[in-house]
Amino acid sequence: MLPDPVTPAHRSALRSIARVVSETTTPTAPDVALSLVAGQLLQAPALAVTGAGVSTDSGVPDYRGPSGSLTRHRPMTYQEFRHDPEASHRYWARSFVGWRHMAAARPNLTHYALAELEQAGLVTGVVTQNVDGLHADAGTRNLLSLHGDLSRVICLHCGHREDRAALDARLVAHNPGYLESIALDPSLVNPDGDVTLGNDHVRRFSMVGCERCGSVLLKPDVVYFGEPVPQERKRQATRMLAEASSLLVVGSSLAVMSGYRLVLDARKQGKPVAVINGGPGRADPKAGVVWRTPVAPAFLDLIDTLGIS
Ligand SMILES: [Zn+2]
Repeated sequence: MLPDPVTPAHRSALRSIARVVSETTTPTAPDVALSLVAGQLLQAPALAVTGAGVSTDSGVPDYRGPSGSLTRHRPMTYQEFRHDPEASHRYWARSFVGWRHMAAARPNLTHYALAELEQAGLVTGVVTQNVDGLHADAGTRNLLSLHGDLSRVICLHCGHREDRAALDARLVAHNPGYLESIALDPSLVNPDGDVTLGNDHVRRFSMVGCERCGSVLLKPDVVYFGEPVPQERKRQATRMLAEASSLLVVGSSLAVMSGYRLVLDARKQGKPVAVINGGPGRADPKAGVVWRTPVAPAFLDLIDTLGIS
């Protein structure tokens, strides 16, 4: 059982996870969508807001896509992670196995195209909801990881931050033979680097403590469901939107409010919004263009149409 004061935030987190985004608009005809998006970028350089749909081509699974992980796995909420030692132990056992799969992912065509569009001055920056670090790897410079980054771990007891790779080396040394004993199906890795793992494997796993204070209350430096986005990051997103003339939503249904808020703010500022996404999204009714397409081929066409190489 969770303590009472956390249950409203926990309930709200569960609602956010369960939100189903249904079809609300008729998508723009694909050829029209291509020329409208290209025109928007030329006339009004855009802040791009990206989600899981840009990383699926890198082998990082989606939550809400057609084969999204939500169909088999509900992510742990902040309240469960923070207040249930068994839950956080289970998380770290699973993450120990799944993280190396996430860490091995490489940027795909969409990440590189967004970096090229930034170089060309047509994209002013990227606000990503992803925690996989792939936009940075592809060379996007004006980048905000709204929900943090799996490459760092924070101690909830003393605030010490540690590189995830360094923590991993300590975990490997502390759990000899553990990884070799588990056969992992890569398709069962979840977007937060979590995998499904049997109870016996979870029990065998031994967690290490913070390298400064020894506490095992270590958490990946990412925003969990049920946890607010840090104020400074919200302010930075607002500044990045102010510097852009339009908004381009890519590979996200914007089911989570922190991303959707940028669409509402852009519309308040009279800035056009375009969507490139494989499925319906919350921003669709607010968008001038809704390009319903697999994301990577759309960017191939876009780069081609804009004459960027
Ligand atoms: Zn500590």
